[in-house]
Amino acid sequence: MSRLRLGVMGGTFDPIHNGHLVAASEVAASLRLDEVLFVPTGQPWQKAGVTPTSDRYLMAEIATAANPRFKVSTVDIDRAGPTYTVDTLRDLAARFPTADLFFITGADAVTSIAGWKDASDLWGLAKFVAVTRPGHALDLPEAPEGAIQVIEIPALAISSTDIRKRVAEGKPIWYLVPDGIVQFIAKHGLYGSKSESVGPESESFGGVK
Ligand code: NAP
Repeated sequence: MSRLRLGVMGGTFDPIHNGHLVAASEVAASLRLDEVLFVPTGQPWQKAGVTPTSDRYLMAEIATAANPRFKVSTVDIDRAGPTYTVDTLRDLAARFPTADLFFITGADAVTSIAGWKDASDLWGLAKFVAVTRPGHALDLPEAPEGAIQVIEIPALAISSTDIRKRVAEGKPIWYLVPDGIVQFIAKHGLYGSKSESVGPESESFGGVK
């Protein structure tokens, strides 16, 4: 029986956006992955002021609902303490013993991998896929041959930071995130949004009046 090829899409996802979804889809096609698990970080390493895990988890569920090959894992949310990728991968390896794991994340995060907890153990747990936007210069760490693969994703010009900023400024985020995420952000007042500022009749819709 052939082994399951399982993508593990690790990120803070604050919020999840169409760049993440396109990246997962492109990597899945390019590496012939059977499934991609989106794994929102619990308490992200060295980060403060992150949106509660319950909101980031729900947004990941909403954004991936339409794709049967995309799933969401709470493995990092369920584990107490800061999120370290070595723990993510050990937990998933125990849960999916017959799978080959492909850890997919932003290239900027991957450049710091040498400083991650138990860094030397990471290479035996998964192959690493660094997704980046075209033309973005990268300083990749030393790694065993074939351990890190870089894949360029044009849609990664979209960023969570920019989306949070746009929401705070009352600018539209339609088409940068799935429609359900626009509504979720407004409904829960995330990123300084006001619920009445989102909707087809509002200025934030960005449509022709
Ligand atoms: P980050 O520093 O917030 O993000 C760095 C860059 O990568 C940003 O441009 C970000 O864009 C992008 N990015 C993040 N996740 C992505 C994804 N899945 N697909 C495409 N682009 C992505 O990174 P982070 O979210 O905190 O961490 C990313 C992953 O690395 C997480 O799973 C985290 O647990 C792991 N990590 C582990 C350690 C450790 O073990 N010590 C340290 C750092 C990170 P957006 O903001 O638009 O997503």
